[in-house]
Amino acid sequence: MAKRDYYEVLGLSKGASSSEIKKAYRKLALKYHPDKNPDDKEAEEKFKEAAEAYEVLSNPEKKQRYDQYGHAGMGGAAGGGGFGGGGMSMDDIFSQFGDIFGGAGFGGFSGFGGQGGGRTRRRNRGSNIRVKVSLDLKDIVNGVEKKIKVKKYVSCKSCSGSGAEGNSGFDTCDTCGGSGQVNRVTNTFLGQMQTASTCPKCGGEGKTITNKCNTCHGDGIVKDDETIELKIPAGVEGGMQLSVSGKGNMGARNGVAGDLIVLIEEEEHPELKRDGNNILYDLYISFADAILGTEVTVPTVNGKAKIKIEAGTQGGKVLRLRSKGIPDVNGYRTGDQLVNINVWTPQNLSKEEKGLVEKLKGSKNFEPQPTSNDKGFFGRMRDYFN
Ligand SMILES: [Zn+2]
Ligand SMILES: [Zn+2]
Repeated sequence: MAKRDYYEVLGLSKGASSSEIKKAYRKLALKYHPDKNPDDKEAEEKFKEAAEAYEVLSNPEKKQRYDQYGHAGMGGAAGGGGFGGGGMSMDDIFSQFGDIFGGAGFGGFSGFGGQGGGRTRRRNRGSNIRVKVSLDLKDIVNGVEKKIKVKKYVSCKSCSGSGAEGNSGFDTCDTCGGSGQVNRVTNTFLGQMQTASTCPKCGGEGKTITNKCNTCHGDGIVKDDETIELKIPAGVEGGMQLSVSGKGNMGARNGVAGDLIVLIEEEEHPELKRDGNNILYDLYISFADAILGTEVTVPTVNGKAKIKIEAGTQGGKVLRLRSKGIPDVNGYRTGDQLVNINVWTPQNLSKEEKGLVEKLKGSKNFEPQPTSNDKGFFGRMRDYFN
Protein backbone atom coordinates (compact mmCIF):
# COMPACT_ATOMS: atom_id res chain seq x y z
CA MET A 1 0.00 0.00 0.00
CA ALA A 2 1.32 3.38 -0.92
CA LYS A 3 2.28 5.52 2.00
CA ARG A 4 0.10 8.56 2.53
CA ASP A 5 1.62 12.01 2.34
CA TYR A 6 2.65 13.15 5.81
CA TYR A 7 0.92 16.50 5.43
CA GLU A 8 -2.24 14.74 4.33
CA VAL A 9 -2.02 12.43 7.35
CA LEU A 10 -2.04 15.45 9.62
CA GLY A 11 -4.72 17.20 7.55
CA LEU A 12 -2.37 20.01 6.59
CA SER A 13 -1.07 21.44 3.39
CA LYS A 14 2.60 21.73 2.47
CA GLY A 15 4.28 24.70 4.09
CA ALA A 16 2.34 24.36 7.36
CA SER A 17 4.13 26.05 10.27
CA SER A 18 5.68 24.07 13.09
CA SER A 19 2.96 25.19 15.49
CA GLU A 20 0.27 24.03 13.05
CA ILE A 21 2.02 20.69 12.74
CA LYS A 22 2.21 20.32 16.51
CA LYS A 23 -1.42 21.28 16.95
CA ALA A 24 -2.65 18.91 14.26
CA TYR A 25 -0.66 16.03 15.70
CA ARG A 26 -1.82 16.72 19.22
CA LYS A 27 -5.41 16.55 18.06
CA LEU A 28 -4.93 13.25 16.22
CA ALA A 29 -2.88 11.71 19.02
CA LEU A 30 -5.66 12.47 21.48
CA LYS A 31 -8.31 11.15 19.13
CA TYR A 32 -6.59 7.86 18.27
CA HIS A 33 -4.80 7.31 21.55
CA PRO A 34 -4.89 3.59 22.39
CA ASP A 35 -6.20 4.27 25.89
CA LYS A 36 -9.25 5.78 24.28
CA ASN A 37 -9.61 3.14 21.58
CA PRO A 38 -8.91 -0.18 23.23
CA ASP A 39 -8.62 -3.10 20.79
CA ASP A 40 -9.23 -0.88 17.80
CA LYS A 41 -6.68 -1.85 15.17
CA GLU A 42 -7.67 0.92 12.82
CA ALA A 43 -7.22 3.58 15.49
CA GLU A 44 -3.88 2.09 16.38
CA GLU A 45 -2.74 2.32 12.76
CA LYS A 46 -3.94 5.90 12.50
CA PHE A 47 -2.18 6.69 15.75
CA LYS A 48 1.09 5.26 14.45
CA GLU A 49 0.71 6.93 11.09
CA ALA A 50 0.23 10.33 12.73
CA ALA A 51 3.18 9.77 15.04
CA GLU A 52 5.43 8.94 12.13
CA ALA A 53 4.28 12.00 10.19
CA TYR A 54 4.92 14.17 13.22
CA GLU A 55 8.32 12.60 13.86
CA VAL A 56 9.40 13.71 10.40
CA LEU A 57 7.65 17.05 10.07
CA SER A 58 8.64 18.25 13.54
CA ASN A 59 12.32 17.74 12.78
CA PRO A 60 13.61 20.54 10.53
CA GLU A 61 16.27 18.37 8.96
CA LYS A 62 13.94 15.49 8.18
CA LYS A 63 11.19 17.84 7.12
CA GLN A 64 13.47 19.51 4.62
CA ARG A 65 14.47 16.15 3.21
CA TYR A 66 10.86 15.04 3.05
CA ASP A 67 9.75 18.28 1.40
CA GLN A 68 12.42 17.82 -1.20
CA TYR A 69 12.33 14.09 -1.88
CA GLY A 70 9.09 12.82 -0.37
CA HIS A 71 9.04 9.35 1.12
CA ALA A 72 11.97 8.35 -1.05
CA GLY A 73 14.15 10.67 1.01
CA MET A 74 13.24 8.87 4.22
CA GLY A 75 14.53 5.43 3.29
CA GLY A 76 17.25 3.44 4.97
CA ALA A 77 19.99 5.83 3.92
CA ALA A 78 18.37 8.58 5.95
CA GLY A 79 20.29 7.28 8.92
CA GLY A 80 19.64 7.94 12.56
CA GLY A 81 15.97 8.40 11.81
CA GLY A 82 14.98 5.50 13.97
CA PHE A 83 12.26 4.27 11.68
CA GLY A 84 13.23 2.15 8.76
CA GLY A 85 10.53 0.18 7.09
CA GLY A 86 8.70 -0.95 10.18
CA GLY A 87 7.40 2.37 11.41
CA MET A 88 7.87 3.64 14.92
CA SER A 89 7.59 1.47 17.96
CA MET A 90 5.07 2.38 20.61
CA ASP A 91 7.92 3.25 22.95
CA ASP A 92 9.23 5.75 20.42
CA ILE A 93 5.80 7.27 20.10
CA PHE A 94 5.23 7.65 23.78
CA SER A 95 8.66 9.07 24.37
CA GLN A 96 7.81 11.69 21.76
CA PHE A 97 4.93 12.79 23.94
CA GLY A 98 7.19 14.26 26.60
CA ASP A 99 7.93 16.86 23.99
CA ILE A 100 4.52 17.72 22.82
CA PHE A 101 2.40 17.26 25.89
CA GLY A 102 4.93 18.68 28.29
CA GLY A 103 5.83 15.60 30.26
CA ALA A 104 3.02 14.58 32.50
CA GLY A 105 0.15 15.04 30.04
CA PHE A 106 -0.58 11.45 29.25
CA GLY A 107 0.36 9.41 32.20
CA GLY A 108 1.28 5.84 31.56
CA PHE A 109 0.01 3.83 28.73
CA SER A 110 -1.88 0.69 29.18
CA GLY A 111 -0.64 -2.51 27.69
CA PHE A 112 -1.41 -2.93 24.07
CA GLY A 113 -3.76 -5.58 22.78
CA GLY A 114 -1.64 -8.04 20.86
CA GLN A 115 1.71 -6.83 22.07
CA GLY A 116 2.38 -9.85 24.20
CA GLY A 117 0.16 -8.65 26.99
CA GLY A 118 3.14 -8.33 29.32
CA ARG A 119 2.41 -4.98 30.83
CA THR A 120 5.59 -3.24 31.79
CA ARG A 121 5.38 -0.99 34.75
CA ARG A 122 6.10 2.50 33.73
CA ARG A 123 9.43 4.14 34.47
CA ASN A 124 9.29 7.87 34.80
CA ARG A 125 10.90 9.56 31.87
CA GLY A 126 12.53 12.90 32.52
CA SER A 127 11.69 15.77 30.21
CA ASN A 128 13.87 16.89 27.35
CA ILE A 129 16.09 19.92 27.73
CA ARG A 130 16.55 22.34 24.86
CA VAL A 131 19.64 24.43 24.41
CA LYS A 132 20.83 26.69 21.64
CA VAL A 133 24.37 26.52 20.38
CA SER A 134 25.75 29.25 18.21
CA LEU A 135 28.41 28.28 15.67
CA ASP A 136 30.57 30.32 13.33
CA LEU A 137 31.43 29.24 9.81
CA LYS A 138 34.74 27.77 10.93
CA ASP A 139 33.00 25.52 13.47
CA ILE A 140 30.59 24.42 10.78
CA VAL A 141 33.29 23.60 8.25
CA ASN A 142 35.55 21.78 10.70
CA GLY A 143 33.08 20.35 13.19
CA VAL A 144 33.54 21.35 16.81
CA GLU A 145 33.42 20.15 20.38
CA LYS A 146 31.62 22.44 22.78
CA LYS A 147 31.27 22.19 26.51
CA ILE A 148 28.00 23.51 27.81
CA LYS A 149 26.75 23.81 31.32
CA VAL A 150 23.18 22.67 31.83
CA LYS A 151 21.05 23.04 34.93
CA LYS A 152 19.00 19.91 35.16
CA TYR A 153 17.52 17.17 37.29
CA VAL A 154 20.00 14.46 38.15
CA SER A 155 19.67 11.34 40.26
CA CYS A 156 19.71 12.08 44.02
CA LYS A 157 22.96 10.83 45.54
CA SER A 158 21.59 10.43 49.09
CA CYS A 159 19.12 7.75 48.08
CA SER A 160 20.73 6.64 44.79
CA GLY A 161 17.65 7.84 42.99
CA SER A 162 15.17 5.62 44.80
CA GLY A 163 13.51 8.44 46.77
CA ALA A 164 13.51 6.36 49.96
CA GLU A 165 15.49 7.19 53.11
CA GLY A 166 18.02 4.57 54.14
CA ASN A 167 16.77 1.08 53.50
CA SER A 168 13.26 1.78 54.66
CA GLY A 169 11.90 0.43 51.42
CA PHE A 170 8.54 0.54 49.80
CA ASP A 171 4.95 -0.49 50.33
CA THR A 172 2.79 -1.88 47.62
CA CYS A 173 0.38 0.84 46.55
CA ASP A 174 -2.97 0.24 48.22
CA THR A 175 -4.93 2.04 45.54
CA CYS A 176 -3.92 -0.12 42.59
CA GLY A 177 -2.62 -3.16 44.44
CA GLY A 178 0.76 -2.80 42.76
CA SER A 179 -0.36 -2.91 39.14
CA GLY A 180 0.09 0.81 38.58
CA GLN A 181 -3.26 0.88 36.81
CA VAL A 182 -6.73 1.68 37.94
CA ASN A 183 -9.90 0.92 36.04
CA ARG A 184 -12.32 3.72 35.78
CA VAL A 185 -15.92 3.51 34.65
CA THR A 186 -17.14 6.54 32.80
CA ASN A 187 -20.59 7.29 31.48
CA THR A 188 -20.59 8.30 27.86
CA PHE A 189 -23.40 8.76 25.39
CA LEU A 190 -22.60 5.23 24.20
CA GLY A 191 -23.16 3.83 27.62
CA GLN A 192 -20.70 2.87 30.31
CA MET A 193 -17.08 2.53 29.29
CA GLN A 194 -14.32 1.04 31.30
CA THR A 195 -10.92 2.53 30.77
CA ALA A 196 -7.63 1.71 32.37
CA SER A 197 -5.57 4.62 33.48
CA THR A 198 -2.51 5.35 35.53
CA CYS A 199 -2.95 5.05 39.26
CA PRO A 200 -3.17 8.58 40.67
CA LYS A 201 -1.61 7.64 43.98
CA CYS A 202 1.61 5.96 42.87
CA GLY A 203 1.83 7.49 39.42
CA GLY A 204 1.94 4.05 37.80
CA GLU A 205 4.87 2.77 39.80
CA GLY A 206 2.79 0.32 41.82
CA LYS A 207 4.52 1.15 45.09
CA THR A 208 4.79 3.96 47.57
CA ILE A 209 7.73 4.99 49.69
CA THR A 210 7.55 4.21 53.39
CA ASN A 211 10.03 6.88 54.44
CA LYS A 212 10.95 9.62 52.00
CA CYS A 213 14.55 10.72 51.40
CA ASN A 214 15.30 14.01 53.16
CA THR A 215 17.36 15.40 50.32
CA CYS A 216 14.98 14.92 47.42
CA HIS A 217 11.73 14.53 49.40
CA GLY A 218 10.98 11.26 47.68
CA ASP A 219 11.46 12.37 44.09
CA GLY A 220 14.79 10.62 43.65
CA ILE A 221 16.05 13.60 41.67
CA VAL A 222 17.64 16.94 42.51
CA LYS A 223 18.62 20.00 40.48
CA ASP A 224 22.28 20.30 39.68
CA ASP A 225 24.68 21.65 37.07
CA GLU A 226 26.19 19.29 34.59
CA THR A 227 28.84 20.07 32.03
CA ILE A 228 28.08 18.25 28.84
CA GLU A 229 30.50 17.84 26.00
CA LEU A 230 28.87 18.14 22.61
CA LYS A 231 30.51 16.79 19.51
CA ILE A 232 29.01 18.73 16.66
CA PRO A 233 29.71 17.24 13.24
CA ALA A 234 30.87 19.35 10.31
CA GLY A 235 28.19 20.53 7.92
CA VAL A 236 25.34 21.28 10.31
CA GLU A 237 22.98 24.11 9.48
CA GLY A 238 21.08 26.75 11.40
CA GLY A 239 17.70 25.35 12.50
CA MET A 240 18.93 21.78 12.74
CA GLN A 241 18.32 19.96 15.99
CA LEU A 242 20.73 17.40 17.29
CA SER A 243 19.48 15.19 20.01
CA VAL A 244 21.76 13.68 22.61
CA SER A 245 19.85 10.83 24.13
CA GLY A 246 19.84 10.41 27.88
CA LYS A 247 21.32 13.84 28.60
CA GLY A 248 18.05 15.55 29.48
CA ASN A 249 16.37 15.67 32.90
CA MET A 250 16.48 12.46 34.91
CA GLY A 251 13.08 10.89 35.56
CA ALA A 252 11.82 10.60 39.11
CA ARG A 253 12.69 7.56 41.25
CA ASN A 254 15.18 5.65 39.11
CA GLY A 255 13.47 6.70 35.95
CA VAL A 256 15.04 7.22 32.58
CA ALA A 257 16.55 10.49 31.47
CA GLY A 258 15.07 12.57 28.68
CA ASP A 259 17.13 13.90 25.82
CA LEU A 260 19.20 17.01 25.38
CA ILE A 261 18.06 18.74 22.23
CA VAL A 262 20.59 21.09 20.72
CA LEU A 263 19.30 23.73 18.36
CA ILE A 264 21.99 24.96 15.98
CA GLU A 265 22.30 28.66 15.26
CA GLU A 266 24.66 30.10 12.67
CA GLU A 267 26.69 33.25 13.13
CA GLU A 268 27.28 35.34 10.04
CA HIS A 269 30.79 35.57 8.65
CA PRO A 270 31.95 39.11 7.85
CA GLU A 271 33.06 38.24 4.31
CA LEU A 272 31.89 34.77 3.37
CA LYS A 273 28.34 33.68 2.79
CA ARG A 274 26.97 30.21 3.02
CA ASP A 275 24.86 28.77 0.22
CA GLY A 276 23.98 25.18 1.06
CA ASN A 277 27.36 23.46 1.22
CA ASN A 278 29.05 26.07 -0.95
CA ILE A 279 30.60 29.29 0.25
CA LEU A 280 30.20 32.47 -1.75
CA TYR A 281 32.69 35.30 -1.87
CA ASP A 282 32.36 38.55 -3.81
CA LEU A 283 35.72 39.68 -5.16
CA TYR A 284 36.20 43.18 -6.57
CA ILE A 285 39.04 43.76 -9.00
CA SER A 286 40.02 46.92 -10.79
CA PHE A 287 39.28 47.65 -14.39
CA ALA A 288 43.03 47.54 -15.11
CA ASP A 289 43.51 44.16 -13.40
CA ALA A 290 40.58 42.75 -15.34
CA ILE A 291 42.31 43.79 -18.57
CA LEU A 292 45.89 42.88 -17.68
CA GLY A 293 45.35 39.96 -15.33
CA THR A 294 46.74 39.66 -11.80
CA GLU A 295 47.04 37.43 -8.80
CA VAL A 296 44.90 38.07 -5.72
CA THR A 297 44.47 36.57 -2.27
CA VAL A 298 40.94 35.74 -1.13
CA PRO A 299 39.79 34.75 2.34
CA THR A 300 38.63 31.16 2.90
CA VAL A 301 37.13 29.69 6.04
CA ASN A 302 40.41 28.24 7.25
CA GLY A 303 42.81 30.83 5.88
CA LYS A 304 43.54 32.35 2.51
CA ALA A 305 43.85 31.21 -1.08
CA LYS A 306 45.77 32.72 -3.96
CA ILE A 307 43.94 32.90 -7.22
CA LYS A 308 45.02 33.93 -10.66
CA ILE A 309 42.92 36.37 -12.62
CA GLU A 310 43.48 35.81 -16.33
CA ALA A 311 44.02 38.79 -18.58
CA GLY A 312 40.71 39.81 -20.14
CA THR A 313 38.50 38.49 -17.33
CA GLN A 314 34.86 39.54 -17.59
CA GLY A 315 32.94 40.80 -14.59
CA GLY A 316 30.52 38.15 -13.35
CA LYS A 317 32.90 35.26 -13.96
CA VAL A 318 32.78 32.71 -11.13
CA LEU A 319 35.91 30.88 -10.05
CA ARG A 320 35.54 27.65 -8.13
CA LEU A 321 37.89 26.69 -5.31
CA ARG A 322 37.25 22.97 -5.10
CA SER A 323 36.45 21.50 -1.69
CA LYS A 324 36.96 24.80 0.10
CA GLY A 325 33.30 24.76 1.11
CA ILE A 326 31.36 22.88 3.75
CA PRO A 327 31.44 19.09 4.19
CA ASP A 328 28.05 17.52 3.76
CA VAL A 329 26.64 16.58 7.15
CA ASN A 330 25.91 13.09 5.82
CA GLY A 331 29.47 12.83 4.55
CA TYR A 332 28.71 12.67 0.85
CA ARG A 333 30.96 15.40 -0.48
CA THR A 334 32.44 18.73 0.42
CA GLY A 335 31.17 21.90 -1.18
CA ASP A 336 33.26 24.49 -2.99
CA GLN A 337 34.03 28.12 -2.48
CA LEU A 338 32.72 30.18 -5.37
CA VAL A 339 34.48 33.44 -6.05
CA ASN A 340 32.29 35.85 -7.95
CA ILE A 341 34.37 38.39 -9.82
CA ASN A 342 33.12 41.95 -9.94
CA VAL A 343 34.96 44.53 -12.00
CA TRP A 344 35.04 47.85 -10.22
CA THR A 345 34.07 50.76 -12.41
CA PRO A 346 35.82 53.90 -11.15
CA GLN A 347 33.43 56.69 -10.30
CA ASN A 348 35.63 59.69 -9.54
CA LEU A 349 38.24 60.32 -12.21
CA SER A 350 40.61 63.25 -12.55
CA LYS A 351 40.52 65.26 -15.73
CA GLU A 352 43.68 63.54 -16.88
CA GLU A 353 42.33 60.06 -16.23
CA LYS A 354 39.12 60.93 -18.02
CA GLY A 355 41.18 62.09 -20.98
CA LEU A 356 42.98 58.74 -21.15
CA VAL A 357 39.74 56.82 -21.11
CA GLU A 358 38.28 59.13 -23.76
CA LYS A 359 41.21 58.25 -25.95
CA LEU A 360 40.57 54.51 -25.57
CA LYS A 361 36.84 54.87 -26.05
CA GLY A 362 36.96 54.96 -29.82
CA SER A 363 39.16 51.87 -30.02
CA LYS A 364 37.55 48.86 -31.64
CA ASN A 365 38.84 46.54 -28.90
CA PHE A 366 36.80 48.40 -26.28
CA GLU A 367 33.49 47.54 -27.93
CA PRO A 368 31.69 44.62 -26.28
CA GLN A 369 31.97 41.52 -28.43
CA PRO A 370 30.48 38.73 -26.36
CA THR A 371 30.91 35.21 -27.68
CA SER A 372 28.81 32.24 -26.65
CA ASN A 373 31.32 31.58 -23.84
CA ASP A 374 30.68 34.96 -22.25
CA LYS A 375 27.45 34.24 -20.50
CA GLY A 376 25.45 37.12 -19.12
CA PHE A 377 23.66 37.03 -15.82
CA PHE A 378 20.69 35.04 -17.10
CA GLY A 379 22.85 32.46 -18.81
CA ARG A 380 24.83 31.94 -15.62
CA MET A 381 21.70 31.60 -13.54
CA ARG A 382 20.52 28.92 -15.92
CA ASP A 383 23.81 27.05 -15.47
CA TYR A 384 23.63 27.44 -11.75
CA PHE A 385 20.22 25.87 -11.41
CA ASN A 386 20.83 23.01 -13.84
ZN1 LIG B 1 -0.96 2.73 42.67
ZN1 LIG C 1 16.97 11.29 47.62
